[in-house]
Amino acid sequence: MAKRDYYEILGVSRSADEKEIKKAYRKLAMKYHPDRNPDDDDAEARFKEASEAYEVLGDSEKRAAYDQFGHAGVDGQAGAGGFGAGGASFSDIFGDVFGDIFGGGRGRSNRGADLRYTLELDLEDAVRGKNVKIEIPTHTECKSCSGSGAEPGTRPETCPTCRGMGQVRMQQGFFSVQQTCPNCRGSGKIVKNPCKACRGQGLVEEEKTLSVKVPPGVDTGDRIRLSGEGEPGVQGGPPGDLYVQISVKDHPLFTRDGRNLHCDVPISFVDAALGGELEVPTLDGRVKLKIPPETQTGKLFRLRGKGVTPVRGGPPGDLLCRVMVETPVNLTRKQKELLREFGDTLDDDQGGSHHGPRKSSWFEGVKSFFEDMKF
Ligand SMILES: [Zn+2]
Ligand SMILES: [Zn+2]
Repeated sequence: MAKRDYYEILGVSRSADEKEIKKAYRKLAMKYHPDRNPDDDDAEARFKEASEAYEVLGDSEKRAAYDQFGHAGVDGQAGAGGFGAGGASFSDIFGDVFGDIFGGGRGRSNRGADLRYTLELDLEDAVRGKNVKIEIPTHTECKSCSGSGAEPGTRPETCPTCRGMGQVRMQQGFFSVQQTCPNCRGSGKIVKNPCKACRGQGLVEEEKTLSVKVPPGVDTGDRIRLSGEGEPGVQGGPPGDLYVQISVKDHPLFTRDGRNLHCDVPISFVDAALGGELEVPTLDGRVKLKIPPETQTGKLFRLRGKGVTPVRGGPPGDLLCRVMVETPVNLTRKQKELLREFGDTLDDDQGGSHHGPRKSSWFEGVKSFFEDMKF
């Protein structure tokens, strides 16, 4: 069966920007989300189709591949169960899209609140993936009073205001309104001697250790959802979710830009002039980098495939090494003499511009600048 065009599915033009695409997807996702259309196969199919389209068009690299090659350019990347990595599912990674539509209450007021945890990772761990143990504060039943909130040996007493009902009737004009009892706050019980361990709350704060499987290739801003690990629900309601927000720490050598890594490599001006071989660091260890003669400062050398394999799939990026030619310091008298001697040989011809590839065009530029300005 021929696949429908992704732009057609989302109902946007080929020139639509990121915002328009996201907006169009939200609209469809709201309409066809399985939570809103239980047992509706057609809606489910539409939802999947829209999600697949958004997975491609919402990612600039995949979108470019799709624009150029059509479905063939992105096949095997998008679709059911998208990422193998770490068991993260579509909605886990794109949690932010759903967060404000279906997150929070999800229409069930007794559902526990979602929690957010910021997980700081070294670049190496973010690139390779890692199992991380995190400790989060959580509320558990107080062992001292078994959750009753009353000091051991005493019992909570029935609330006299509501006689244990938890609700009171209030007369408002002609109407009688049922309200939560203000005395016991709906529990129907009054604690006269509060438990010292939990100050009558029945709950104590405890650290809970959770294991988070971080898939390889995550970057700052990615979120991993741990279903049901949020705040406990109220009155038997389901717990909320825990969102682990990834924050990648700065690295002393590499800076990351999507799937590419950048690093600065200092070289001596002798190596830059004569050419040579350098050892440069990569995340997999050292590699040799050949520097051709007459290399200028700032020149970029691309080491293919030495970047990052993105969590959403696709080929690894590159490592871009920027060569920085260093001016020598702490020169001895002899070295200074040699440099002066060397400098004199440059002055012998054409004001040295023959040896300075940018110098002559720069002087030309300065000359015409002053002529134009009529100084
Ligand atoms: Zn207690
Ligand atoms: Zn009461």
